[in-house]
Amino acid sequence: VKVTVLGAGDAFASRGYFQAAYIIETDGKRILMEAGPALLTAMKRAKFPPADLDLVLISHLHGDHFGGLPFLILEYMWESPRRTTLTIAGPRHLEHRTWAMFRSMYPRMERTQRENVARKLKFVVLEPRNIARLAGFKVSTIRTPHTRPDVSLGLRIDAGKKSIAFSGDTGWTEDLLLLSERSNLFLCECTYFESEHLDFHLNYPLIARERPRFKTDRFVLTHLGREVLDRKNEVRIEMAYDGMKIEL
Ligand SMILES: [Zn+2]
Repeated sequence: VKVTVLGAGDAFASRGYFQAAYIIETDGKRILMEAGPALLTAMKRAKFPPADLDLVLISHLHGDHFGGLPFLILEYMWESPRRTTLTIAGPRHLEHRTWAMFRSMYPRMERTQRENVARKLKFVVLEPRNIARLAGFKVSTIRTPHTRPDVSLGLRIDAGKKSIAFSGDTGWTEDLLLLSERSNLFLCECTYFESEHLDFHLNYPLIARERPRFKTDRFVLTHLGREVLDRKNEVRIEMAYDGMKIEL
């Protein structure tokens, strides 16, 4: 199982890091986890053909996590039409908001064109604390304290014999321990260092304090904000970067 970090940045693309996107490869299949606005740029630079995706997972409905979906749809309309159906799974309202975004961005696109591509996309709602089987993978979820009333998810994907857990965007919750238990990789958001917005984001001192309680083989910080990137020298946990490849 190979994980490629396409975007390790926060919503502000701090220090030029791309916003959230990850590719998980296993058994000849590719999962895209998160779709930040620079998705197509990041995918094409890293030579991942957008046509070769088998599953898309979205943690929550903020632009830095799903704002790239209209461009993926545009790509499927014009540049690389899909032959097979692509499952796009995430919290409720994902389908509606994605198409609302698309129509705002390309209002004059013919309805028939939209309908043609929509036929090749299957949106699936992921409920928190649930297990779904998608494209042959087991996907488990928790609800993270980040958005209300919208649902934000933490995700866990069992791919082959490996488990990858991802915090999504989140304030502190003990459920993160559960989500990542006995995982091979835990990707944990680390938006802040000195700032405390702990009801909807994590900061480095809190993560460093709680780190020993996590039972995971490899703990990697991601969704890195300006404060964390500026104080890299003080960070004692592995940090993600754009283009990072993690072999499991
Ligand atoms: Zn975010």
